[in-house]
Amino acid sequence: MGNARVIVVEGDITRQQVDAVVNAANRGMRGGGGVDGAIHRAGGPAVLEDCVRRFPHGLGTGQAGWTTAGDLAAQWVIHVVGPNFGAGERDRSLLVSCYANALAVADELGAGTVAFPLVSAGIYAWPLDDAIAAAVETLRATPTEVEEARIVAFGRPTYDAIAAAL
Ligand code: ADP
Repeated sequence: MGNARVIVVEGDITRQQVDAVVNAANRGMRGGGGVDGAIHRAGGPAVLEDCVRRFPHGLGTGQAGWTTAGDLAAQWVIHVVGPNFGAGERDRSLLVSCYANALAVADELGAGTVAFPLVSAGIYAWPLDDAIAAAVETLRATPTEVEEARIVAFGRPTYDAIAAAL
């Protein structure tokens, strides 16, 4: 196993032409706001149906699991549950686990290209610079067969900050 090539693009994760798209889900796994809402809207009802069927009890913080990507160009959605910094979940290893576990699921699936949002950096209020550092460090250091880990920055300031970190 090697390491993924980590790149950044600015855009909407639901528009990425990749094998798998990572979703910043919540423990219930029944949809939500931010990138989660965007993925469920763009993927259509098949994503939620598969979440219900495959994850009747949701997922724990730091864990990852996959579903169909429904109408998205990607084949799979890999759902991860980031720690909710704003609610007092501040254990950084949980954020690191999201990226490492997402890559492990991608390897199970045979996904060569994977798009990631900045997990926990939105509604869950993880400080931006550290959310970026955790993403970049973990995606670079975790052994995987994934060839490309594409961080999708939602907006130019976030893109610039990730590009600087890379
Ligand atoms: P969390 O609850 O884990 O903080 P959010 O979805 O609120 O998840 O935010 C995670 C990151 O995803 C933030 O940087 C946010 O700006 C970004 N984001 C929101 N919508 C999209 C989208 N459509 N594509 C890519 N990134 C997005």
